[in-house]
Amino acid sequence: MDSHPDAYILLGPPGSGKSTQADLFGREFGAAHIDMGAALRAAAGERTPFGEALSDIINKRRELVPDGIVRSILENELKRVGPSRPVVIDGAPRRESQIQAVLSAIHGSGRELRKAIFIDLSEAGSVERISKRFSCASCGRKLILGSDLPAAGGPCPFCGGVASQRADDTEDGVRTRYRIFREETMPVISHFKEEGTLLHIPGDQASDAIFKEILSALETV
Ligand code: AMP
Repeated sequence: MDSHPDAYILLGPPGSGKSTQADLFGREFGAAHIDMGAALRAAAGERTPFGEALSDIINKRRELVPDGIVRSILENELKRVGPSRPVVIDGAPRRESQIQAVLSAIHGSGRELRKAIFIDLSEAGSVERISKRFSCASCGRKLILGSDLPAAGGPCPFCGGVASQRADDTEDGVRTRYRIFREETMPVISHFKEEGTLLHIPGDQASDAIFKEILSALETV
């Protein structure tokens, strides 16, 4: 039996629920969540020339950041997690030129890619989900408008903190990121499909239903 810990890659457009699925992987398999977008947004929040340049790319131009930055963040995150835990990488590779770097970082950390999982969601679904996505600046909870959060502009119902949206989560921002997903990330998905490593899961269902589908697909491979 293979003793290498597993690595999974989660791919999907904005709002497809990659982070939620990554959390569920954590609970089920003890996998560490490597969230490329969150790591990049944290770096973009630093008041340094590097942070400001990243913020310009992520929040104003809404483009993908250069591959070298993604590679070094991924390698650092894999080191931080250590060699023995499975990992779920959320949001990389996002363009074809990142595929080899991500695969070699995974192998270099002693892990095997088990599956790349594509959570599929239409552009309309993506815009609708993102328009409802808030989080609390104080307690960090994810808040969905209309279920956890009664009204936009209101306080966090759990701790009274400020509930806000990400700077790149405007409608315009989501449409731009969706276009980039279609143009840059769909070829990555085709690559994993041709390699036979892809699971294609419909994303227009509740998160626990998506995870159930992922688990049963993993059992049959
Ligand atoms: P996310 O939180 O996944 O929506 O990512 C937020 C932003 O981080 C994206 O819009 C990109 O600007 C950047 N980003 C995240 N992952 C990558 C990646 N693999 N390659 C390049 N840029 C990325």
